[in-house]
Amino acid sequence: MTAGTSENTYAGGAFDDSLPGGKAGGFLKLSEHRMHYRGDAGELELPLDRMELKRGGAANRLLFFSHPSYANRQFYCSDASILKNVHLQRWPQLAGSGRRIRGLTGARRFGYAALLVAALALVGGIFSLKEAAVGLVVSQIPVEWEAKLGDSVYEQLAASHHVVDDPALNATLQRIVQPVANSADRLSERSYEFRFHIIEDSTINAFALPGGTMVFHTGLILRAGSPEEIAGVAAHELAHVTHQHGMRQMVQSLGLLLIAQALLGDMEGLVGVLVTQGQELLSLKFSRDYEHEADLTGLAYLRDANIDPTGMLSFFEKLQESGSGNMLEDADFLSTHPATADRIEALQEAIEATQKNSPPHQFTLDFHAFQNRLQSHLQQ
Ligand SMILES: [Zn+2]
Repeated sequence: MTAGTSENTYAGGAFDDSLPGGKAGGFLKLSEHRMHYRGDAGELELPLDRMELKRGGAANRLLFFSHPSYANRQFYCSDASILKNVHLQRWPQLAGSGRRIRGLTGARRFGYAALLVAALALVGGIFSLKEAAVGLVVSQIPVEWEAKLGDSVYEQLAASHHVVDDPALNATLQRIVQPVANSADRLSERSYEFRFHIIEDSTINAFALPGGTMVFHTGLILRAGSPEEIAGVAAHELAHVTHQHGMRQMVQSLGLLLIAQALLGDMEGLVGVLVTQGQELLSLKFSRDYEHEADLTGLAYLRDANIDPTGMLSFFEKLQESGSGNMLEDADFLSTHPATADRIEALQEAIEATQKNSPPHQFTLDFHAFQNRLQSHLQQ
């Protein structure tokens, strides 16, 4: 992302009868209620209220903005980062179209390079190439399909567990994790709708499913020492989602033939197979590399949200200590996210290397009251 004078200014153009030839290039800018076009031939604007957004142009690379009250005027933009603009995001119809478009962009980035890598991986059977092919395949899977897969797993889970439905408890959890979710959305190329649930389970665990649904066990919330620890776990889990680690690991286990078929266009077949194996997502043990990546990306989310990342560290340390003691059976999180000593050390170093001067965000909520309410909810 470019900074400085280009902020809030996007390359694009306009179609309008007042322009020479009916069309001119220039720049688009956004204000609270309007989109402004500026070019050599003049200035135009369109209201954001009831504005429509579509994709088009060569290779579908352009975004077109139109408005029912301005039949002969249309703006276009070649810079997809406009979809993340705060003014545009405030209008649900634009944010919704934008999310769909951003989801699809990943699905169409496919080209000859992907085929070549897949073919090489098949011929050579080389592991690192398989990993690259897996990365290409999962990046083609639209966010909506990932969400469908994650939702189907969550629905089965919710049918066999008590979901904590107390609105006040869910609202407090939301306040703790929302800043991290916002940062994850801002910093991630793929656009997920993160959702958070609490289920009644005394084990210390939390996990996120493909597509962005995250589940906290009551056991984890009750044994956390601060909102920062909860936010830290969320940051780590959301990083697994944005890096598509669960998808990668599942696709990897399917074998090269299905991967090759997916690269050749049979993505639906692949997703169909994934859905039948969705429950495996709950017991996937992530690789050391994925854990390290989730730690560092989670740290970036916490820094971006200005949340003290030592909460993430202290929670992992707590888990590691419990792992060597009698809490082992309860610490499910450890079995899927091994908190090794070297991982904790690497996280510690990364936290120090990214030290910020500004005082961290203070959660204005009574964490113990939250835990007490959860405790009494469980006793009902
Ligand atoms: Zn993890």
